[in-house]
Amino acid sequence: MAKIPFTFAPPADTDTPFSMPTLKFAVLAGDYIGPEVMAEALRVLEHVAGQEGLVLQHTAADVGGAGIDNHGKALPDSTLRICESSDAILFGSVGGPKWEKLPPKEQPERAALLPIRKHFTLFANIRPGLLYKELTAASPIKTDRIPEGIDMVCIRELTGGLYFGKPKETTTLPDGDLQAVDTMIYRKSEIERITATAIATARTRKHKLCSIDKANVLETSVLWRKTVTEYVAKHAPDIELTHMYVDNAAMQLVRGPNQFDVIVTENMFGDILSDEMAVICGSLGMLSSASLGAGKNSLGLPFGLYEPAGGTAPDIAGKGIANPCAQILSTALMLRHSFGLDRAASRIEVAVKKAVTSGSRTADIAFGGASIGTRAMADAVISAL
Ligand code: NAD
Repeated sequence: MAKIPFTFAPPADTDTPFSMPTLKFAVLAGDYIGPEVMAEALRVLEHVAGQEGLVLQHTAADVGGAGIDNHGKALPDSTLRICESSDAILFGSVGGPKWEKLPPKEQPERAALLPIRKHFTLFANIRPGLLYKELTAASPIKTDRIPEGIDMVCIRELTGGLYFGKPKETTTLPDGDLQAVDTMIYRKSEIERITATAIATARTRKHKLCSIDKANVLETSVLWRKTVTEYVAKHAPDIELTHMYVDNAAMQLVRGPNQFDVIVTENMFGDILSDEMAVICGSLGMLSSASLGAGKNSLGLPFGLYEPAGGTAPDIAGKGIANPCAQILSTALMLRHSFGLDRAASRIEVAVKKAVTSGSRTADIAFGGASIGTRAMADAVISAL
């Protein structure tokens, strides 16, 4: 089970020879605010690397609109090769008005993100839902329902279920009517591997896991519930497991999000619930995510893609006002999951919290008060480090 397996920190107060660990990752900044927030996240990461005795070996590559403009393809082969020879991918975001007239299949999001997910079998999407109590005004939920803010994690299965099952087609029936079909399929092994990811995450938090399904109606959900129950009983008796139907979960998320700690669910339910969670957490500028692959990297840890939950924000791009925190927090997730560096990851998370809660705010979280720009926000995080 992937507990936080090791840390690269040099031994304290000893003369033990120590070679500085090298973190090899691809940097795919993408479009519009992507490069703006990525530059600041890398600056923060360099600072942490200095503190923790780490060497960063990152290689930048074009993706999305930048891939189309410079190589004729949203996911250029050269970019894919760089990702393949890395231990993780730090991703910005892709797409925007400049490429909207392209056929849907060639558009940056569809032609870059989906193939990367498929290529690396990124089956587990981990999204922290985090709202500091000082920012509760950003949430559409009444402040008195979330006096301490929100702190939960949504784990979504990403490569199975309704979005990928076959048949998936529209046909004309003999009576001339049109009929469309999507197919929801899950294998036990797919459910087991996402459960293992959820357990590993729950173990880094309160050891509480809520599995969300629709087992009163769907056959796939019956298998889901049975598999999760058996897997947790066998491999993680330390985890307190509960189950909830997805319609109830959608309501409970707005009624009282803090009844949840870690939730795990299938692809489509997770797509919807994780967006609901993002909305109740206020600004997209604060939310990061990790997509973990089935494969291991050269360190024997999960290969993963780490990115902000939001998009390229063309409306604010080029103005130097985008919030870099989501991208900075994505680097923390990368350190934790793909490099096993929990202490360095926590260092970043604590610094972001300290910077924001002590008053350094970009416009999206300033509620009309004084705000600072992208670079100054990163400076505030570095100061907090
Ligand atoms: P968006 O997430 O880019 O923006 C929605 C709103 O949130 C905007 O008002 C934006 O200014 C704000 N916002 C987002 N990130 C912010 C940040 N870091 N700091 C401050 N404010 C921030 O969604 P959209 O406008 O629907 O999409 C814009 C483009 O991004 C589209 O082309 C879309 O396809 C693409 N997109 C890409 C990804 C991805 O690469 N993973 C995800 C979502 C959307």
